[in-house]
Amino acid sequence: THYLNRIKSLDDKTNAFITTTEEQALAQAKQADQLRSAGNASQLTGIPIAHKDIFCTEGVKTSCGSKMLDNFIAPYESTVTQKCNDAGLVMLGKTNMDEFAMGSTNESSFYGACHNPWDLEKIPGGSSGGSAAAVAARLAPIATGTDTGGSIRQPASMCNITGLKPTYGRVSRWGMIAFASSLDQAGPMAQTAEDAAMLLNTMAGLDLKDSTSMDQPVEDYTAGLNNGLEGLKIGLPKEYFAEGLNDSVKAAIEASIKELEKQGAILKEISLSTANLSVPAYYVIAPAEASANLSRFDGVRYGYRCEDPENLEDLYKRSRGEGFGDEVKRRIMIGAYALSAGYYDAYYKKAQQVRRLIKNDFANAFNEVDVIAGPTAPTTAFKLGEMTNDPVTMYLEDIFTLSVNLAGLPALTVPAGFADGMPTGLQLIGNYFQEAKLLNIGHKYQ
Ligand code: GLN
Repeated sequence: THYLNRIKSLDDKTNAFITTTEEQALAQAKQADQLRSAGNASQLTGIPIAHKDIFCTEGVKTSCGSKMLDNFIAPYESTVTQKCNDAGLVMLGKTNMDEFAMGSTNESSFYGACHNPWDLEKIPGGSSGGSAAAVAARLAPIATGTDTGGSIRQPASMCNITGLKPTYGRVSRWGMIAFASSLDQAGPMAQTAEDAAMLLNTMAGLDLKDSTSMDQPVEDYTAGLNNGLEGLKIGLPKEYFAEGLNDSVKAAIEASIKELEKQGAILKEISLSTANLSVPAYYVIAPAEASANLSRFDGVRYGYRCEDPENLEDLYKRSRGEGFGDEVKRRIMIGAYALSAGYYDAYYKKAQQVRRLIKNDFANAFNEVDVIAGPTAPTTAFKLGEMTNDPVTMYLEDIFTLSVNLAGLPALTVPAGFADGMPTGLQLIGNYFQEAKLLNIGHKYQ
């Protein structure tokens, strides 16, 4: 009730929620009370949670931030939200996001931009901006997000919260609306690394419904949170601290890394020479996969359908033309172009080769160091509307986050103080399935 009231009185300012599910939340809370009094509670039973509106939730509108799905009531539950329900978590509602998770500002949402609670005239980051704003504004204690190229970490950084992008395959993608299937991964967004660890305990695990989910035991991510950092080798890629990084952000990140050094970590400069290749590779691969994934929205099966179509061709054209926003159309066009005969080898195949180089680059780095640290985004949150007409500059916002998805690695963003009055986040990148180590470092830092 406390959180539902906060959402009611404050969310007209932040616009973090697309849908609130009050009735269902109160019913789930009652059940949680019963479980608790019967001694059947898990760690998170009764804890409220907000879910990004990309997860199918049975009987509840699941819009993915798009007009295309404005009328879509999901007929089934995603694995992530099902696991949360099973653990007794209480869903408060579905959070705002960039349309089909394409964006870094939350401005491409059909439901209007979400506002950063630290400065309502600024972006919360994206695409999981609604989840980040909800946690930051204390409209929910924890939330789920998804990260295809930074969408958990970048809004976490801009809203002063903690967000974890797990190893590809750690969390099931079943029932999570697909953007770029080889990059998409769901993860926890919370105030602290400890809260994120508890939520990851619930979200992670093999799921036979997702053939890319990994058969790897789920450890208790809270178990090692207090391990000491003595002797931990932290790599600092020189490319991450170079040109393009805002000076105040750089100072805040360097100060946070010094804190880790004080706790016994050993800093080592390393080089990730493929760092500048992640933006071009990602912006071929992600749109290519998106153009294929989004072909299912045809006005026939479900979702938006145009009025009075003249024939099938008209139905397809107008349903897609009217249902999708500009950024989504831009991605579909880029993707379809990159995959077309004659261009496939030059763009898509080349981008996949570059992807392998990026993966190898990290593999070499992890021969030398335990984790890699650096900024999450080159800037803090900027004003709403500032980048709407400049997609290429917006794509550069992702420069420090994309390579992690291309390589399939886990990465954690934790609050690293303020740069010119706005929050910024330290990014810690780990080797495959090293989520526990990242959360341990994040916890010790906090
Ligand atoms: N900002 C990136 C993009 O627009 C990443 C989005 C995401 O991680 N979903 O594609």
